[in-house]
Amino acid sequence: MTFEFAIPRDALEYSHRQLYISEELDSPSLRAESYLNLAKAHLRLGELERALNFARHSLYNKCELCATAGHVHLTVGSVYLELAGFNKALDSFQQAHRIALALRDTALELQVYVGLSELFSRLQDAEKSARYASKAYDLSRSLQLNDLNSRHHRAALLQMASALRKQGELGDAHDYCSEATRLALICGDQASYARSIRIMGDIYRNKSDINKAFRQYEAAMGSAAAMGDRVIQMESMDGAARCLEALRIQHKICNCRPLEFNTRLLEVAKSIGAKLLMRAVGLRLSGIYHSLGDENNKLHHEQLALKIQNDLALNCAACRSPYGLEDDSLEALSCSHILHARCAYELVRRNKKKKCPCPECDRTSSRLYLNCNDYNSMQYSPVQLSICSSDSHGTSHQATSSV
Ligand SMILES: [Zn+2]
Ligand SMILES: [Zn+2]
Repeated sequence: MTFEFAIPRDALEYSHRQLYISEELDSPSLRAESYLNLAKAHLRLGELERALNFARHSLYNKCELCATAGHVHLTVGSVYLELAGFNKALDSFQQAHRIALALRDTALELQVYVGLSELFSRLQDAEKSARYASKAYDLSRSLQLNDLNSRHHRAALLQMASALRKQGELGDAHDYCSEATRLALICGDQASYARSIRIMGDIYRNKSDINKAFRQYEAAMGSAAAMGDRVIQMESMDGAARCLEALRIQHKICNCRPLEFNTRLLEVAKSIGAKLLMRAVGLRLSGIYHSLGDENNKLHHEQLALKIQNDLALNCAACRSPYGLEDDSLEALSCSHILHARCAYELVRRNKKKKCPCPECDRTSSRLYLNCNDYNSMQYSPVQLSICSSDSHGTSHQATSSV
């Protein structure tokens, strides 16, 4: 069975034991589960390449359409989110979603929406991030009452809090986040607790209450470090670094502490391979060195950030200009290539009768994967999107058109 441990190292030890038993029993499905658990533990330890390797091992040992495979795709999607490989993340989430619908696995479906919400949050499409967060939240409420204490419910609450914050709805974000903190404490769920106080830090930071925000991040860092959860630790450090940056720009502190802290954070982000964060920290360091009059180091970090940005190649498949750097509405084709929403709708409009080929990979799709349910309320003039016919899972049409 799959399991959740507060401490990733405990999860690792348990998974290795499970793997040993699966070898003894020569059971491919148990082996697949062990590898999945190893992948999940390595993800939290920030060892992303190893997480991907174990995920691949898991898939070798499993049928294509089973819950374990669904969770493997979900985990792979989460790993690629950290690596800023957004097309691959989207592709993995789509595969997990397909399995969730085929198996009517609501908990898995919910987790896919949480992942998609996070993906669009990182790509600065706050509106789409909020939409997927509310899909997750709605699902969490439709589960049995008993499950309101489940970690899925807490994950949905936290994703709502995070998405609402991005939209500037700080009061509501605060309420969702407090509820998640309360439930995490009741259930002794350390990982959700650490994440919730980190998100609360973000909310205070947006309210310009920097001191309160900093204390939240410090608590989250401590909690994450105690668990050995390096991903939450890194996210909390980034929050603290943003607080220091705010204080530095307001001339409330000198450059020393931000310099030291961001240098340390850059090392953490590098060791994990979190490219988006490496880029952000590089830009911050460049600004700090500029204030110090150290033009060599300023240029070095600026170039580092630019190189990462080029490597990420976050360019719209249609117009080739970048996406994800500033607030914008995005869409994706079923091949998982991402476009500006305006470019995607233009593409569909031009190919009204025919299936439209992706400008990036030339694969045809007859729909936009991310087409939203309340599409008609959007500013684009309604285009009739035919539902994809190549999808063999007939029953899931209605729902997949929204992913
Ligand atoms: Zn574009
Ligand atoms: Zn494509």
